[in-house]
Amino acid sequence: MASMDSTQSGREDWLADLNAQQRQAVTAGDGPVLVIAGAGTGKTRTLAYRVAWLISKGVDPARILLLTFTRRAAQEMLDRASAAVSRGTHAAGRVWSGTFHAVSNRLLRMYAGAAGLDENFTVMDRSDSEDLINLVRQRLGFASRERRFPRKNTCADIYSRCVNSGDDLKTVLQHHFPWCLEWASELKALFRSYVEAKQERRVLDYDDLLLYWLRILDDEAVARSMGGRFDHILVDEYQDTNAIQAGILRGMRRNNGSIMVVGDDAQSIYGFRAANVRNILDFPSQFPGACVIKLEQNYRSVKPILEATNALLEQAAERFTKNLWSERRGGMKPVLVTCRDENEQNDYVIARVLEQYEQGIQLRRQAVLFRIGYLSDSLEAELIRRNIPYRKYGGLRFLEAAHVKDLVAFLRILENPRDELAWFRVLELLEGVGPATAERALGHIGLNGYRPESLLSFDPPVSAAEGMKHLSEALRDLSGGDKLALPAQIERIRGFYDPVFERIYENPNPRRRDLEQLEYIAGGYKSRRQFLTDLVLDPPSSTGDLSGPPTRDEDWLVLSTIHSAKGCEWDSVYLIHASDGCLPADMAAGSKEELDEELRLTYVAMTRAKDRLYVTWPLRYYHRKHRDGDAHSYAQLSRFLDDDVCARFDRATTGQEPEGDLPDAGPLSGLDIRGRMKAMWD
Ligand code: ATP
Ligand code: MG
Repeated sequence: MASMDSTQSGREDWLADLNAQQRQAVTAGDGPVLVIAGAGTGKTRTLAYRVAWLISKGVDPARILLLTFTRRAAQEMLDRASAAVSRGTHAAGRVWSGTFHAVSNRLLRMYAGAAGLDENFTVMDRSDSEDLINLVRQRLGFASRERRFPRKNTCADIYSRCVNSGDDLKTVLQHHFPWCLEWASELKALFRSYVEAKQERRVLDYDDLLLYWLRILDDEAVARSMGGRFDHILVDEYQDTNAIQAGILRGMRRNNGSIMVVGDDAQSIYGFRAANVRNILDFPSQFPGACVIKLEQNYRSVKPILEATNALLEQAAERFTKNLWSERRGGMKPVLVTCRDENEQNDYVIARVLEQYEQGIQLRRQAVLFRIGYLSDSLEAELIRRNIPYRKYGGLRFLEAAHVKDLVAFLRILENPRDELAWFRVLELLEGVGPATAERALGHIGLNGYRPESLLSFDPPVSAAEGMKHLSEALRDLSGGDKLALPAQIERIRGFYDPVFERIYENPNPRRRDLEQLEYIAGGYKSRRQFLTDLVLDPPSSTGDLSGPPTRDEDWLVLSTIHSAKGCEWDSVYLIHASDGCLPADMAAGSKEELDEELRLTYVAMTRAKDRLYVTWPLRYYHRKHRDGDAHSYAQLSRFLDDDVCARFDRATTGQEPEGDLPDAGPLSGLDIRGRMKAMWD
């Protein structure tokens, strides 16, 4: 997001930066306000100015709660607010801000007693939850059944959907996981044990953070106290909150009606998290007396881009926000580029990026967007080869990378030696150690009061003796509190881990940078616990910073999944792999709701562009197995780029014109995509 012009800061008439509707929202009284409006209409700007307005009217910043989708987004908004407030430039820094999860983590520690929690609870990320579910599943004996029990990630999905939707297990299975219906009673037992296991270990998963917050607000006194800390609550991207989050907000506002939420139903992209477009539409009935404000002027995109995105949205089955208009005249039509294959797509994108860089558009003002993390693999390889710095957002998150998890598992053992999952992870890194030996080692440690150094007296199988010795020594050196500074702890761990790492990962070099980055981030922390908590709640958002530290004055090209691009904007946007199967993704083209969501994702992607939009798609996909051969299949252009949308694009092809043996590159390929498209929406 672009920040405000610095010339505007300090001006008394800063409200003149807003149009009439935005100003109405910014200066609204203390009742509930819903701002519902399309992309780029200044919703986020409105919220930032609202913060500034409140502070300028004397509201204590520490009594404002700002809920956003990422920490990055919160920071950017507060920077905008600081720039706008004429007095006290740093006041906005004291605003309570962050994601629902991070704010819950803070509040639950303050109200731990009332919530029946230990204030030192730890938070598990999604893959930890899966692992714990797996452990429980094995202990209950469900894993060894003849017919295959649902996999751990499916179990975690089912659990999360029940919790978030508030529906009972049967209903969730019937609607979303019908092939698991036969396991209903086992799943119920599994989830009960999972909850017990979490409580025994004093851990909360992501869903718990929201659930505990919601439940604790049932108590009148807690609700009064907790809600009473905040004079004003503001929420961005409200279309991606779910019923639990709405319930939390109602609980927080029992005795005070000042709440402002902003969102765009057309950009709702987290349906699979049981988020619900209804949430935003039901706001007026959930917060009686709400004032509803609509914004229709788009300030982000030039007119030709806006026309294309408006046309795209015409396909939506249901929509509530209107077509947008823009005063940003001129500008070029978006370009739809048919590429012969992925390599040509990479070449095309890189050529345009560099061309614009030469024209003075920094790399970081340009972004390449894609539906799923791995779709940028070959582009990344090419960027590395050409020494072009980039940062990748979304996809496999930093903390989910196996090698990062390995290293973090050591720290977790030191922090909480009862953390079985971390023990299993670390023990099974050793050559010659499988689940049985790991279980036996853990039993031994348990008998010795969970002292990590007691591993020294464990009697391992001969094949594992050497590794076990090194591990025990590392743990011995590190046990006994935070004696060493955190980076020194990591260094000692790496003394043990690096040789293991070299052995188990095929291509260790790029991964090594992640370990270095982890060590670097750790340098900013005094306490191991705080470090571990932040890693789970606000993990570094970029990975694959593989081409080295950004050179060229700290400039880098942005690569991002569409999900992680939410709320952002760039001068030039390249949406790659706009082929059916990638967009909509194959896995999400099953039901009408899923397709609807894929369309909204496409809308989110294209509406990130300010001045230039390129949509590219490769005609051929080579099959990885036969990389040297010529085995390939042909792709079709994304069904969302129908005739009406394509008419708003200029067309281009890369390399040679497609030859006779290739299907027509256009949407009128005789395969009647338009017809298929319509049928999907019947
Ligand atoms: P999205 O739906 O994508 O989150 P949004 O509605 O939050 O978009 P913003 O990001 O707040 O929109 O604003 C889009 C762009 O328009 C930003 O560059 C912002 O600074 C600019 N903008 C918003 N309102 C105005 C205005 N009244 N005058 C000039 N520029 C504006
Ligand atoms: Mg926004």
